[in-house]
Amino acid sequence: MKILVAIKRVIDANVKVRVKADNTGVEMANVKMSMNPFCEIAVEEAVRLKEQGVASEVIVVSIGNQQCQESLRTALALGADRAILVKSEDDIEPLAVAKVLKTVVEKEQPEMVLLGKQSIDGDNNQTGQMLGALLGWGQGTFASKVEVADGKAQVTREIDGGLQTLSVKLPAIITTDLRLNEPRFASLPNIMKAKRKPLDELAIADLGVDVAPRTETLTVENPPARKEGIKVETVAELVDKLKNEAKVI
Ligand code: AMP
Repeated sequence: MKILVAIKRVIDANVKVRVKADNTGVEMANVKMSMNPFCEIAVEEAVRLKEQGVASEVIVVSIGNQQCQESLRTALALGADRAILVKSEDDIEPLAVAKVLKTVVEKEQPEMVLLGKQSIDGDNNQTGQMLGALLGWGQGTFASKVEVADGKAQVTREIDGGLQTLSVKLPAIITTDLRLNEPRFASLPNIMKAKRKPLDELAIADLGVDVAPRTETLTVENPPARKEGIKVETVAELVDKLKNEAKVI
C-alpha cells in the first residue's frame, strides 16, 4: 500500500510571530521555518505503517517555494521514500492545495493520504476535508490512533467527552491529531541518505488547476495587550475581588 503524506512548511512553532508594520501579514524575512508539527506526526505515522509492513512506499508532497525542499528532505530523513515538490511562489489557500493534491493522488494512486489536522500558520483545518470531498473518499479526521486491516482503517478520534472510533474503507484521508504519536528525530546517517532519495519538482502552472484565491486578507493585527494582573494577599481578598469587582462568583 502506498501512502501519500502532505507536508507544509510554516514558521517554526518556537518563533514569536510579528505582524508587519503595514498590517498586510506577518513578518517572514529571516524567520526560522520548519515542517508543520501535525505534518511531522503524519510522516511519523506513515513511516511506522511502513515499518509494520502495512505500507510499501511513503511519498511526501509539499506545495510551496523552493525552500520547501528542506522540509521534504527532513521527511526523507525521517523515513519517507521519495518526495514531490509542487512549486508555487504564492501562498495558496486550502481549496487550491486540495485541488493540487487531488492531481497528485490521481497520478500516484495511494491508498491513504495522511495530512496534519491543521497548519499552525493559518489554523485553517480545511485541506484534508476538502481533499476528501474532491476525491469522494471517506475521511477520519483528528486521528489519535490508526490501525489498518482488511482494506479498512480504524481511526480513533478525540471528541468532547471521550473517544470515537470510525472504520473507514481505503482509500481514505486521515488527518493527524497531537496524540497520535511522538515523531522521531532524524539521525545523521539518515540525513545523509536522504540527500540521495528522489525529489521530483513540478510547476503548479503545469497542473491545470485553478488556484486563484477565494478570500482576501484585509488586515492582520496583534491581539490587544493583556492588562496587568494584581497579587492578592489572602484567599479572602481573592474571593472578595471575584465577588465584588470581577463579579464572576
Ligand atoms: P490546513 O487546512 O491549512 O490547516 O492544513 C491541513 C494540512 O493540509 C496540513 O497539515 C498539511 O498536511 C496539508 N497542507 C496544507 N497546506 C499544504 C501545502 N502548501 N503543501 C502540502 N500540504 C499542505
